[in-house]
Amino acid sequence: MNPFLTSKVKERSGGRMVYLGFCAFMELIIVVAIINLLQEENWGAALLGLLLILGFARPIIREIIKEKDFKNAKVIASYLNGIPSESIKMAQIKQNIRMDDPVKQIDRLLKKEYLMNIHLDWEKELVVLLALGSSNRYVEISCPNCGAKTVVLQGRVKNCEYCGSTLLGNKSE
Ligand SMILES: [Zn+2]
Repeated sequence: MNPFLTSKVKERSGGRMVYLGFCAFMELIIVVAIINLLQEENWGAALLGLLLILGFARPIIREIIKEKDFKNAKVIASYLNGIPSESIKMAQIKQNIRMDDPVKQIDRLLKKEYLMNIHLDWEKELVVLLALGSSNRYVEISCPNCGAKTVVLQGRVKNCEYCGSTLLGNKSE
C-alpha cells in the first residue's frame, strides 16, 4: 500500500457501477421521451423530463469527478513514493507531474482525504513527506515556543528553524 494514499481511494465496487449504468440508461430513455414530447408540443412534460435528466446526471457527474480525483491521487502518490528525500520543492513537482497545477491538486486531495502523510510548506515552497517507508515516520508538530509548524522524525529531537527551541517528535498520529 502506498503510504500517501488513504483507504478512500480504492477500486470501484460492482454495485456502484450497476447503479451508474442504470442512471445512464435512464438518461437515454428520457432523452428519447423528451424528443417525442417536443414533437407533440407538450412543453410541460418536456420540461419535467429535462429536470429528470439533471437528477440522473448528478450521480454520474459526481462519479466522473471522483474517478479523476482518484486517478490524480494515485499519480501523485506513486510519484512521491519514489522520492528518496523527506521533502521536495513545489517547483520540481510542477515540472515532473503532468497535471494542471499538481500542488493545488495535492492541497485539494489532502482536504478530501484521498491523500495523507503530506505537508505543504507554502512559506518554503516545499512538499514535505511525513512517511518514509514504515519505520522512519515523520510527525507534524507545532513549536511550543513560537507556534511554527514543522516536521520531526518520530522519537527524535531537533531545533526549531525559527526560534531555536528544542522540539520533540513524540506526537503520535
Ligand atoms: Zn519555534
